[in-house]
Amino acid sequence: MRKTLLESLTHGPLTEAPPAPDEAALAELAKNVDKAAQARLGRSLSIRAVDAGSCNACELEIHALSNAFYDLERFGLRFVASPRHADVLMVTGPVTKNMREALLRAYNATPDPKWVVAVGGCAADGGIFRGSYACLGGVSDVVPVDLHIPGCPPSPTALLKGLLALLQHVAGK
Ligand code: SF4
Repeated sequence: MRKTLLESLTHGPLTEAPPAPDEAALAELAKNVDKAAQARLGRSLSIRAVDAGSCNACELEIHALSNAFYDLERFGLRFVASPRHADVLMVTGPVTKNMREALLRAYNATPDPKWVVAVGGCAADGGIFRGSYACLGGVSDVVPVDLHIPGCPPSPTALLKGLLALLQHVAGK
């Protein structure tokens, strides 16, 4: 025990430092997402996250958008507690059999216009859980999907880029 304590005091952390995100690019990206939402909706975007059965790593990246560094709300974008107040459903994970009904209810409770964003490889086609007895497959096997953001898990910047691409695509229609 004493040896472990001494080692922890004399050795640095074993994890690698993460690459520093470009703050200016990030701010510009988030501002563009908000501008596109204002043009399309006349207000900022509201997002409801739905975990349909993920391993939770995708959630960690989504939650990071609200942390002190990314602080998405300073650009007006916000996560809401109810699908009734949401414009976008951000769905993670493969859809498990137990979460199918909850996902459908969240989808039906979201007012139009609504968009579904499938986050991560599992949300696309079940990913590493594909074929499991507990899973139905990807999000599009249960509800219509407007955009898939790839990654395992996708970074917060990739999530913002995906939202921007979605709003620009919708505005161009
Ligand atoms: S895509 Fe990767 S990080 Fe996201 S739920 Fe699946 S295994 Fe987990």
